[in-house]
Amino acid sequence: MKVVGVFLKGCKYAAQNPKFLLNVEAGLGLRPWLEAQGHLYHLTHEKDGPHSELEAHLHDTDVLITTPFHPAYVTADRIKKAKNLKLLLTAGVGSDHIDLHAAAAAGITVAEITGCNVVSVAEDELMRVLILLRNFVPGWKQITQGNWDVAEVIHRSYDLEGKTIGTIGGGRIGQLLLQRLKCNLLYYDRYSIGEQREKELGVTREEDLDTLLSKCDLVVLNVPLTDKTKGLINKDRLSKMKKGAYIVNNARGALMDRDAIVEACNSGQLGGYSGDVWDPQPAPKDHPWRYMANHAMTQHISGASLDAQWRIAAGTKETLEKFFKGQVFPEEYYIVKKDGKIAPQYT
Ligand code: NAD
Repeated sequence: MKVVGVFLKGCKYAAQNPKFLLNVEAGLGLRPWLEAQGHLYHLTHEKDGPHSELEAHLHDTDVLITTPFHPAYVTADRIKKAKNLKLLLTAGVGSDHIDLHAAAAAGITVAEITGCNVVSVAEDELMRVLILLRNFVPGWKQITQGNWDVAEVIHRSYDLEGKTIGTIGGGRIGQLLLQRLKCNLLYYDRYSIGEQREKELGVTREEDLDTLLSKCDLVVLNVPLTDKTKGLINKDRLSKMKKGAYIVNNARGALMDRDAIVEACNSGQLGGYSGDVWDPQPAPKDHPWRYMANHAMTQHISGASLDAQWRIAAGTKETLEKFFKGQVFPEEYYIVKKDGKIAPQYT
């Protein structure tokens, strides 16, 4: 079979560490294994536009591996061109870069490596919570620019203790984050995580999103991007938050109304915003989140620690092995089944 993988360029870093697997040079380290079985493995980083390398390979690709970190947007038009496509495999968590309805209509299976990097994201979120509360970024900038102004940092620096933190989404990442926090904890999710789990985590469910927003000093997004969650945090919702509250978003950039976030950061309605996800990715040079006040943004990195990369590679290999043998995947890996059924978290 022809397997195509779309990954970011590792450049000089690809050769520096054999554990760095999530790049186009390494291709998750799958080449020897795939080729030994007679499969063709083509790797590219060129994913955008009608003249990209990905586009040129679509017509005879059987399996397409993509990642949320360098998302190849698999549109209905691309699915139509990919006449041989049987499996769209997301090497990571989050398949919103794929038109799931078009895949379902074409009878293509979509799967992801569910759970592979959820610890990595929760740990990164914890870091971002503290970076925002402690007003870390201006202090770090001063030091690198040769300055020393303690007042600029400490006039808006807070402890985590005693604050109220809420997660929108109480799934895998949301619960791992709650486990790692010691303060007043709330969550909003369309499903309850159950009384026993709430007790273990010391968290209270808010059934109304606006109520959660009004109570929190900091809100973390942990929901998938779907038709229902696109633009979830808009101008109206931001106005329900306490003045100066913070947002952490490692879930997906399009959960936010981009310009409403800029306005809220610049006006002080938001005390700060941190996350690693953008819409689109890579973020263009003029994306306003690069330049707004009090942000602590990075590239899409939270789910791609070296430990996560190892789990992504192992999970991708295991899933491909099952696919070649005609075996079923673990149920939670299915995003779209061959019969056109879309997983509940995306509906
Ligand atoms: P999960 O499926 O375990 O949890 C998602 C939760 O969201 C579920 O509890 C679900 O009930 C809830 N939910 C879904 N739609 C909702 C709605 N409309 N209203 C309220 N609640 C809703 O997923 P997870 O593993 O915790 O991952 C969450 C998201 O994090 C992923 O979808 C992905 O977008 C993102 N993610 C980002 C990275 C990264 O590197 N930045 C890595 C992994 C995952």
